[in-house]
Amino acid sequence: MFSVRVWGDRGSMPTPGPDTVLFGGNTACLEVRCDDRLVVIDSGSGIRKLGDKVMREDLPKGPLSIDMLVTHTHWDHILGFPMFTPIFVPGTKLRIRGPISYEDDSLEKVFGSLLSYRYWPVRQEELGAKIEYQQIKETTLDLGDGIFVTTKYLNHPILCLGYRIEYKGKSFVTAYDNEPFYNLFPTDPSDPSYDAEAAREGEAAARDENEKLLRFCQGADLLIHDAQYTAKEYQASKRGWGHSSYEYAINVAHKTRAKRLILFHHDPNRSDAELQELELFYQGKVEGRSAVDLEMAREGKTWQLGG
Ligand SMILES: [Zn+2]
Ligand SMILES: [Zn+2]
Repeated sequence: MFSVRVWGDRGSMPTPGPDTVLFGGNTACLEVRCDDRLVVIDSGSGIRKLGDKVMREDLPKGPLSIDMLVTHTHWDHILGFPMFTPIFVPGTKLRIRGPISYEDDSLEKVFGSLLSYRYWPVRQEELGAKIEYQQIKETTLDLGDGIFVTTKYLNHPILCLGYRIEYKGKSFVTAYDNEPFYNLFPTDPSDPSYDAEAAREGEAAARDENEKLLRFCQGADLLIHDAQYTAKEYQASKRGWGHSSYEYAINVAHKTRAKRLILFHHDPNRSDAELQELELFYQGKVEGRSAVDLEMAREGKTWQLGG
């Protein structure tokens, strides 16, 4: 069995309420099952209910052993961690991997700071679980039991990793929080800081990184891609915020021949009605153009990648 379930798909901030019932209001958390192994991606607010399920269904079978992959440490991707009940259970083994940071603080310190009396009544030292931290770069990890994880740097205001999980000949890729790489140097010759060589190099570097990302996503059976904005919103005012447009995500899925695309990291201001309308619009747009199936991420939805 190789499956992926969404426990949180909202970007930036949890958004409970009557307008977010269908697609969900919890922030990023994915449950990946590779037969008996559990891999959790991100610990946004959605992880609380995943923790309840793990307590109900996995704990009775024996001590818990969980791998957690952290895309990055922005608030919406870690805020649920203190309410992930398995961390309080003695005997739980939790391996947390996430990107190294340019800042001085280690991954352990970042997670530990969530569990300080200033924010929470329980400290990291008081947890029942044994937690190991590993800071990673672009690499391939062997998690054992035939599970391989490849990572890729994405374009986001802090170091952020995409994850590609391969198991039993199938592949699942995450590419959020991410926006297309672009030239960071002025390209207009009338700009006083214009430098022709820098502009050329900037263009080449952006193209190179975007091509690397396409190779990373190539042929995924399931691709969960950032899609917080419409192309119009992105171009009007959101460039540099670290998120993609629906159009860009769809383009990536087409170019890489992804079998199924899940549009993820919904804008906190987007209601169910708006997301439904956008989903129908973009599904219509790709009809007849390629075999890619696309849909908006929905809390509670599971995809089976292999039996
Ligand atoms: Zn985010
Ligand atoms: Zn972020």
